[in-house]
Amino acid sequence: MRCRLCGHDNLSPFLDLGFTPPADQFLIKEQLNEPETYYPLTVVRCDQCFFVQLSYVVHPGILYRNDYPYESSMTRTGVTHFDAFAESVMEMFHLSSKDFVIDIGSNVGVLLSGFKNRGCRILGIDPAENIAQIANHNGIPTLPVFFNNDVALNVIKKHGKAKIVTASNVFAHIDNLNLLMKDIDTVLDEDGIFIVEGPYLVHLLAKLEYDTIYHEHLSYLSLLPLIPFFKKCGFELFDVRQFDIHGGSIRLFVSRALKRDVSPEVNELVNYEKVQKIHSMDSLFRFAEKVEINRRSLLSLLVSLKEQGKKIAAVSAPAKGMTLLNYCKIGNNLLEFVTEKSTLKINKFTPGMHLPVLPDSALVSEKIDYALLLAWNFKDEIMRNLTEFKDGGGRFIIPIPEPVVV
Ligand SMILES: [Zn+2]
Repeated sequence: MRCRLCGHDNLSPFLDLGFTPPADQFLIKEQLNEPETYYPLTVVRCDQCFFVQLSYVVHPGILYRNDYPYESSMTRTGVTHFDAFAESVMEMFHLSSKDFVIDIGSNVGVLLSGFKNRGCRILGIDPAENIAQIANHNGIPTLPVFFNNDVALNVIKKHGKAKIVTASNVFAHIDNLNLLMKDIDTVLDEDGIFIVEGPYLVHLLAKLEYDTIYHEHLSYLSLLPLIPFFKKCGFELFDVRQFDIHGGSIRLFVSRALKRDVSPEVNELVNYEKVQKIHSMDSLFRFAEKVEINRRSLLSLLVSLKEQGKKIAAVSAPAKGMTLLNYCKIGNNLLEFVTEKSTLKINKFTPGMHLPVLPDSALVSEKIDYALLLAWNFKDEIMRNLTEFKDGGGRFIIPIPEPVVV
C-alpha cells in the first residue's frame, strides 16, 4: 500500500482495532446465519508526509450500497450546523442566485437545502441510491453516482462550472485523493472554492475518539500533510475553521494556487500540530495504549453492572458505535439491544455483534437501567430527548474518553 497523499510506501502502523465488518452494514434477520465478511482495521502514519490513514481499503461498492443507512438530517445539531455552514459560505464569498454549488457526498441534501433556501443553484452527488432518492423527493436534485471524471464533465456541460464545491465528511472517505483533485479542477470555476470538512486528527487523539475509526474513514485530517498535497495538485489551502460537531471537525478552504491570501489561522494551526507533536510515533503509540485501556475499563464497568443484575442497552447505532462494540466485543453477553431513531436501522441487527435494533421507546418498555450512549457526539441532544427513561431512573454511560455514568 502507498500513502494516499504523497505516494510514499513507508507507512508505520500504530493502532490495530482487529478485523471488523463494515460499520454501516446492518443485517436483516435472514442474514444472521450467513457468513459475514470482516476486514482489517489498522491505522498507519506515512513516514514521508505524516498523513494518518487506514492500511486497508474496502471496495466502495461494498460500503456504499443502495441500502446505506445514514441520514444526515437525523439530529437537530446536524441540521443547525449545516444551515449555518451554508449561511457563512454565502457571506464569506458573496454568493448570489447566479452561483452554482455542488455538494459531493450530499446525503439527503441537508447542506444543499441551506444554499437552495438562499437562492443558489445546487446539485448533489451521492452514490447511495436510496439516499439520493430521498434527496430528490425533498426537492434537492441529486445524482445517484460516485463522483468521477465522466460525472464532472457531464455536470459542467449541463450546469456550467461551480463557484463552490463542498465535501463534508466525505473527503476522508475517498481513496484516490489525487484523482479527486483532478475532478475538482474540472468542475470548479477559475475563482471557485473547494471546501472540505471532516473530523480533525487533533481531537481524535486528544479526546480518544477511536470509535470514529472505521472502514469508511480512510483518512484522518490534519493540516501538515494536506498543505503540500493541495499545492502539488495546483491548489492552495488558504483558510481554516474549527467546529465542535462530530467530536471536533475542521473546515478547510481551498482555492486554485495563488488566488487568495493565506489566512494567519492556517499557520497557527500547523504550528499547533507541531507543538502538540500529533504526528510523532510516540504520541500515536501513546494514543493506542489509551485505546486499549479504554476497552478494559468499559468492559469491566459493563460486567460489574451486569453482575449487579442491571439491564443495559445501547442508545443510538451510529457507524462509530459499531467500531466500539466490535473492537470491545460487546454483544448480547452484556447488552439487551440497541435503539435508534432512524427507521433505516430499526428492526435490523448490528454488524458483527448482531444486536437487535429497536426504537428508543424500548428503553422504557423493556425496563432498561443503563443506556450506553454510542453517539456521544450528540449526547446532550439524546439525553435531553429521552425524558421518560431519565424520569424512570435510567442512567447513561458515556464510553469515551473514559467510561462514566451520568
Ligand atoms: Zn504520505
